[in-house]
Amino acid sequence: MKIFDVSLALNEKTVIYPGNVPLEISVHAAMPKNSTHLSKITMGSHTGTHVDAPRHAVLNGVPLDAIPLETFVGPCRVLDCTKSLGAVTVSDLEPHNIQAGERILLKTKNSERGFESFYEHYIYLAGDAADYLADTGVALFGIDYLSVKQRGSKDQRPHTSLLSKNIPIIEGLDLSKVSAGNYNLFCLPLKFTGLEGGPARVILTSD
Ligand SMILES: [Zn+2]
Repeated sequence: MKIFDVSLALNEKTVIYPGNVPLEISVHAAMPKNSTHLSKITMGSHTGTHVDAPRHAVLNGVPLDAIPLETFVGPCRVLDCTKSLGAVTVSDLEPHNIQAGERILLKTKNSERGFESFYEHYIYLAGDAADYLADTGVALFGIDYLSVKQRGSKDQRPHTSLLSKNIPIIEGLDLSKVSAGNYNLFCLPLKFTGLEGGPARVILTSD
């Protein structure tokens, strides 16, 4: 079995979406003064590779810990959308013949560009493409940038269409080392309760 770690590293260089909580790590207790070493971590719930739960964009929506783990573990498909410039549209998705219940991850130019610094004009999901995925009834959707939605856009559908149908969104995937194809997904968000989202370690495996 091959394991692909598609999570972003978390440290003080981790790219944060503008306006989100900065990631800060400091020493809370240090040896030899203390008998153990402890760190203090301050971060937003949408830092690095993370999951958006319905509560993120749907009033009184389902929190992250109420989504069954079965949604986050199982077969998934990575689609090659590296030709998309700007929005990933319905016509980019249609040829992939996406079926109800599939876990769909999009690999775009974002992964090729890397995650060294914030890139304003990242590739995002178009509103009607979000409607298309929601209507198809995918189980889970993931994209390789810190937001699924175009920066500054008033079209909220990339969040609302999916989340109102209880389809969680993984944001901040790094798919640079993964080619399009079929994998097993293991996405394990930390077990904070009642939250609208949270960081996750995400891996893909193939036989
Ligand atoms: Zn998010």
